[in-house]
Amino acid sequence: MRNAKRLNLVLLGVMVAWLAGCSLNKTTGRSQLNVLSRDEEIQIGTQGKAEMVKEYGGEVAKADLRQYVTEVGMKLVKTTAVDDPTYQTLPWEFTLLDSDVINAFALPGGKVFMSRGLAVKLSNEAELAGVLGHEIGHVMARHTNERFADALKMQVGAGLIDAIVGGNIATTLTNNFGDIALKSYGRAQESEADSLGVRYMVRANYNPYGQQQVMELLDQVTGKDGRPPEFLSTHPDPGKRAKAVAALIAKDYPQTQNNPAYGLHEAEFKSRFLSKVSLAFPGAGPSRLARTRAELGPADAIGILGSAIPGRACAACGTAGR
Ligand SMILES: [Zn+2]
Repeated sequence: MRNAKRLNLVLLGVMVAWLAGCSLNKTTGRSQLNVLSRDEEIQIGTQGKAEMVKEYGGEVAKADLRQYVTEVGMKLVKTTAVDDPTYQTLPWEFTLLDSDVINAFALPGGKVFMSRGLAVKLSNEAELAGVLGHEIGHVMARHTNERFADALKMQVGAGLIDAIVGGNIATTLTNNFGDIALKSYGRAQESEADSLGVRYMVRANYNPYGQQQVMELLDQVTGKDGRPPEFLSTHPDPGKRAKAVAALIAKDYPQTQNNPAYGLHEAEFKSRFLSKVSLAFPGAGPSRLARTRAELGPADAIGILGSAIPGRACAACGTAGR
């Protein structure tokens, strides 16, 4: 056993060197151990996206709603170039999941997800930007990479280390996705993602108060079945986070308050999103699963076949719910 342990330590040492060690994350200003390369992050995100879409019952069928969410998301992504322009080329995608579950999450490599159940609870575009900005923050801060690094540091799974030394890191990590990537982010990572979200909102001229509003909303909202929303399984203490965001705004972004240059964009959100989503899902978004097959076009088939799974942890926003 001792020999095996020593071997693992040696392998870990080899692997760390082989993986090019640490580098500075220009967004967070923190040094990070590079476990995942950019290509591997993209691969995990792309493969994970297909799983998530299936698991959450497909994407919302209305293209104009999906386009609106993408537009707001990309507006925020553009602002990340101030810290690190190399992330502009990630295959960013903003997926509006056709699920009543209240959740949002991200996968590495630029894949951001938000459920319809959460979207219909929002009241302005700044709140939407608050949700998306937080998730973009997880991607930019490379929080999934950090989770893998932590797992390696703790030597969770000698098999993982062996396989990595064997050279097939992406496959190995993808196979271990369920064990590692689905763990919730730590409190410090959530708080960092909140701060980054606020940073991107301000740069895109949104009132960062929207971020605080989302936290306050989540602090009060109850899931459809009376249980706490899924979001809370991965993002605890929204009340505390709302206070932290308020303090951050007061300290670093006081110029954004009572300033028409930083809007909440309530009217735009209502006309471009809420009014249409209520038409698509009368009655504030009844379960897609309750609708008949005849009502749904062929493109919606996955909405019937798939199902939202309440209580499942979500992966990168702390986590992908799989
Ligand atoms: Zn998060």
